Amino acid sequence: MFLQASRTVLSGTKVALPQRLLNARRSFSSSHPLYIRQRDQVIPRTSIKIFRTIPQLRQWRRKQLLDYRSVGLVPTMGALHEGHLSLIRMAAKENFSVVVSIYVNPTQFGVHEDLDSYPKTWTKDVEMLRDLDRELAADGGNLGKISAVFAPTTEEMYPSGRPSQDIDGKGSFVTITPVGEVLEGASRPTFFRGVATVCMKLFNIVTPEKVYFGQKDVQQTVVIKKMVKDFCMDTHVVVGKTQRESDGLALSSRNVYLGTRRRRVATVLSKALRVAETGYLRGYRSRDELLGPARELAKLLLMEQHRLEPEERAKFEVDYISLADPDTMQEVEEVDETKGAILSGAVKMLPVESPQPGEDLGLSGGPSVRLIDNIILKPVKL
Ligand code: AMP
Repeated sequence: MFLQASRTVLSGTKVALPQRLLNARRSFSSSHPLYIRQRDQVIPRTSIKIFRTIPQLRQWRRKQLLDYRSVGLVPTMGALHEGHLSLIRMAAKENFSVVVSIYVNPTQFGVHEDLDSYPKTWTKDVEMLRDLDRELAADGGNLGKISAVFAPTTEEMYPSGRPSQDIDGKGSFVTITPVGEVLEGASRPTFFRGVATVCMKLFNIVTPEKVYFGQKDVQQTVVIKKMVKDFCMDTHVVVGKTQRESDGLALSSRNVYLGTRRRRVATVLSKALRVAETGYLRGYRSRDELLGPARELAKLLLMEQHRLEPEERAKFEVDYISLADPDTMQEVEEVDETKGAILSGAVKMLPVESPQPGEDLGLSGGPSVRLIDNIILKPVKL
């Protein structure tokens, strides 16, 4: 009753409160929970709270616990797209309260990576969340809604100061090996250390019943599942399907760097992985039978680009195409039909040659863009 009355006032609706309640409100000290509640920022025209600090979030979380409201967390680095939204939709189906975290985590970027130019689109992100909030409200099939955005500062997330991004940098890190050392971890040696560290912090802060990750970053899902298991964490990891453009390119916040010319060629990876998947569906099981045609296709598509004029072509380098065990991400020679496997790859789209006047080169003048993608080969035997 007490909370209810205060909430009505906060939402802006003018109602006459009994004098007893008004007196009580005036007497709150600054440490009283309701005092802080009054200052909660919200996304305009929604009830989605914006929390910038850990105490604010924790205070809200405690209330969810007391009200038996399950909490789902969707960690993101912002620059939201349909891939993120699909995870939020899943979370709203399965939880009363959804927290979306938006935080560009510096420790998962290598020293020479694109931390400074990583797209930051707060205003657009907030609009997308507002639209999604309306969509979720109109859809009767959801258990819950987006309750809060957690958008902390780096001082808040790294209270002892931001640790070094160097490989042998000191600091409080979570490392999950060997799974975090292969594939993406081999190309980006500090990447999974940064991801696991920030996810451990987010899980400790939000204490969600469920956490949502995209299959698009499949190795990340394996690392996080391992972290949750090995550190006996009380949360359940849910993995959502990869969302794609109509031509097969996996959605990614980094696609904005591509520009028109490279965007046309950027489907090389999804096409190559598709070829390998087709082989699996036709009954091939060995590494050579599956990856051979995929590598051949990537080579052909690169030759096609080389034959074009410099002002028309878009060159790329294949970093890896992998066939790996779904639990460990270690390379396999043969798919175990009871486990299936993960086909994955990474391709670096190089900056375009001879940019033309007025050409759309992508965000930040079109630097190199590393694209990753994967397909899960499902087990065919129990
Ligand atoms: P990011 O903001 O890139 O860190 O991604 C936040 C979450 O969204 C991660 O769990 C990603 O795997 C997921 N995600 C990114 N792209 C996609 C996609 N195309 N489809 C599904 N999930 C995605």
